[in-house]
Amino acid sequence: MLNIVLFGAPGAGKGTQAVMLAEKHELVHLSTGDILRKELSSGTDLGKQAQQFMEKGEFVPDEVVIGMIRSQIEQNPNAKGFIFDGFPRTTAQAEALDKMLSEKTMAITSMIALEVENEELVNRLMKRGEVSGRADDQSLDVISNRIDVYHQKTKPLIGYYDAQGKYNPINGVGEIMEIFERLSQFVGQLKG
Ligand code: AMP
Repeated sequence: MLNIVLFGAPGAGKGTQAVMLAEKHELVHLSTGDILRKELSSGTDLGKQAQQFMEKGEFVPDEVVIGMIRSQIEQNPNAKGFIFDGFPRTTAQAEALDKMLSEKTMAITSMIALEVENEELVNRLMKRGEVSGRADDQSLDVISNRIDVYHQKTKPLIGYYDAQGKYNPINGVGEIMEIFERLSQFVGQLKG
């Protein structure tokens, strides 16, 4: 099994690349952001709960996203592997993920970190805000807050995965297909 954490700041390109990697390498793509946006647009209680955090660029509580991931893993018992996108984002989430995977005799194979500088992230998110309807891409304040929260709460996960020998930085700047080739080649090597 091949279980990948696709890591990076908001705007690093995780979603775009995860969809393509999942298709090419036959992995199940799990994006907590996508799941939450779906809940929100369907008007579920979970979506309503999450909205107040998402619109400010804050994190939805750990237990909510951990529960979502657990249920997605359980709904895909025959998966050849998973690609986690936008999860884990805190140490508590990373620990919970390791624990739930090990209970199923599974493990994270590799954490691939897409590296993009702050200024480029802001530019990309502002541009995405113009073309997509994503509420949290519409305001510079919310964008800046998401990047700040990433630096405070999510970046420490580099140390968490590095300590397990699973941290692999990849240059996330360039053309989408060029970045995809870099990632895909690396994933191919992981498959052996
Ligand atoms: P994303 O699409 O990954 O950028 O996520 C959009 C928003 O959903 C984030 O700004 C958070 O409010 C929320 N969210 C997504 N994934 C998580 C997570 N793993 N932990 C907490 N909040 C999350």
